[in-house]
Amino acid sequence: MLKVKSEKELRLQFGFPKINSKRLKQMSSSQLKIELAETIRHYNSKGWSPATSTNYSFKDEMGSIWVSKSGIDKSLFQSNDFITVTNEGVSSGEFEGLKPSAETLIHCAIYELFPETTVILHSHSVYPVLISSQLADKLIVSGYEIQKGFEGQTTHDNTIEIPIFDNTQDITAFAKTLFQNKSKIQNHTFLMRKHGTYAWGRTLFEAKRHLETLEYLCQCEWMVQRNS
Ligand SMILES: [Zn+2]
Repeated sequence: MLKVKSEKELRLQFGFPKINSKRLKQMSSSQLKIELAETIRHYNSKGWSPATSTNYSFKDEMGSIWVSKSGIDKSLFQSNDFITVTNEGVSSGEFEGLKPSAETLIHCAIYELFPETTVILHSHSVYPVLISSQLADKLIVSGYEIQKGFEGQTTHDNTIEIPIFDNTQDITAFAKTLFQNKSKIQNHTFLMRKHGTYAWGRTLFEAKRHLETLEYLCQCEWMVQRNS
């Protein structure tokens, strides 16, 4: 007789990620620094942060924002390459005077707009750059199973819009754009045209899921457009 396997047995067999409330429990900042640095090196190995580009941040147990230092080769990024910044994006405490990433104010804006956020990831992967060069102000996707990777989405049978904002070197102005368009940012991600993606979450696990979901969707949509 066929024995129905328990959820635990299936996870052991297939390595399904365990999704429960423990996933939402933030790890200690020292552990988070180690795991986020590992994530950064992993994403670099996928070609998502060429030429020292991209930036990453997390909020510690005390509510302080830690951002990746500017100009670090991401293949070499270490857990001690994060520095604290004020809510205005200025390096603080023992790191005063050091240069945080040029895009630090974008991180500060996301933490303010979406207060549950504890981790923010930024990618310069190729497919979002390509697809954002071809679309107007949003990426519209529907029918993909992977859409469920965005927190709050429970079915493929839905249409999702991810906003695309124009790239700029005026990061203060860009942060204002985020505040003005908060209602359009509904899936914990957005694209910057010909630049990359930002994704965030309540944990590192969740932020990674959002970034990788968007990455996959951009790749699919680029290929669909190229073949149509
Ligand atoms: Zn960037």
